[in-house]
Amino acid sequence: MNWDDFSHWGEKISHWAADYHRTIRDRPVRAQTKPGAIAAQLALTPPETGEAMDAIMADFETIVMPGITHWQHPRFFAYFPANAAPPSMLAEMLVSTIASQCMLWQTSPAATEVEGMMVDWLRQALGLPEGFSGVIQDSASSATLSAVLTMREHASGWRGNKEGLSGLGRLRIYCSEQVHSSIDRACWVAGIGQDNLVKLPTGPGPHYAMEPDALTQAIAADRAAGHTPAGIIAITGGTGIGACDDLTKITEIAQREGIYSHLDAAWAGSAMICPEYRDQFWQGVEGFDSIVFNPHKWLGAQFDCSVQFLRDPQKQLNTLKIEPEYLKTSGDAVVNYSEWTIPLGRRFRALKIWFLLRSYGLDGLRTRIRNHVTWAHELCEALRAQEPFEIVTEPILSLFTFRCPGDDNTQQRLVDAINNDGRIYITQGLHEGRKMIRFSVGQFDCTREDVMLAADVIRDVWEGLQ
Ligand SMILES: *Cc1c(COP(=O)(O)O)cnc(C)c1O
Repeated sequence: MNWDDFSHWGEKISHWAADYHRTIRDRPVRAQTKPGAIAAQLALTPPETGEAMDAIMADFETIVMPGITHWQHPRFFAYFPANAAPPSMLAEMLVSTIASQCMLWQTSPAATEVEGMMVDWLRQALGLPEGFSGVIQDSASSATLSAVLTMREHASGWRGNKEGLSGLGRLRIYCSEQVHSSIDRACWVAGIGQDNLVKLPTGPGPHYAMEPDALTQAIAADRAAGHTPAGIIAITGGTGIGACDDLTKITEIAQREGIYSHLDAAWAGSAMICPEYRDQFWQGVEGFDSIVFNPHKWLGAQFDCSVQFLRDPQKQLNTLKIEPEYLKTSGDAVVNYSEWTIPLGRRFRALKIWFLLRSYGLDGLRTRIRNHVTWAHELCEALRAQEPFEIVTEPILSLFTFRCPGDDNTQQRLVDAINNDGRIYITQGLHEGRKMIRFSVGQFDCTREDVMLAADVIRDVWEGLQ
């Protein structure tokens, strides 16, 4: 492809993108394809000779698009959102164009310096005190794994990387039963083991927080048994029902016990740009050693973009930094962000944050988040008032859960029927051993009408099943 063709197609595709978003409500939210249907339309072997872009683009429309679940659909209420605000899309086009690999300061000085500044803008935006620095990672899973590895090395006197794990005894990590599966996986791959991830019971609503006394007792019992408490992982906004731990109590325990602490606020962290939510959900956050939140979820920075704040980055650097000859750089003291993370290669993710924050301003983003929280509460009330649905957990920010009459299979049948209907998209979860239905508001362009329409859709589909 020559650059004239590139510019022709670049223009066409940016028009296509705008039209896609303008007409997206006409599409079913969740893809309506059967497994294997898309693969069956692709050639079995790669082409020996090049094809025209017209043909490639036509196949994209006819083969690929019907198999897309539309995460940018304003009636996407499943999982958590993965917003791609238009200025962040434009930044990603530029990033794809310059295609730098930003592992070291010298391999892309601007990427490194914009990243440092954007982490600090977001620190201020979320009301974190000065002194936290941080790094942008691909996902909360990676940031949590980095934190768990740091817990392991910190608790073992930095011996694990060198000696392996066989001589370290049992390293214990504590969290509540509401954490995301990325915490389990981080413990698996860090060699901690599922059996050493101690999941503590949670108290009642509205927050479903880890019981601090249970935490203290578990730590004492483990020490008495000769185990090594290595880390505490708290959550603000758990995936199932939005559970939020008491951050002040947990960090007090962590500091008293000398245990490294990490906070998973992957989803709810974005809402902390609104100061009014901090009293309820963010008190004590400054006591954590590591905090992760995903601007690629609710804030609007296109996937992927996960920010890990660190109180003392040196601990994570002592865990992850490795400097073979070919990565040494000479000259002034600079930050090389690949030393903070597991992958060496890294994308220029900070540019989309810069575009996003400048284009909307924090106030523009706050308005969206506040609306989502308000509308989630309104829809929850509408469903509560509507026979025969039952609210299972009250809204935490913009997430609540509900149930229809019947057993677990009935809940799943309703979810599947709603998603086959296509007007909205929702997913199921488990609460206290029983299936329920999650409803999460947060798509960047959704309106109050989109959210309230869900009450009609849920009732229509339920009636259709009777
Ligand atoms: C989404 C989510 C994660 C995982 O995020 P990734 O960036 O996909 O790894 C972890 N924890 C919570 C609470 C989440 O909502």
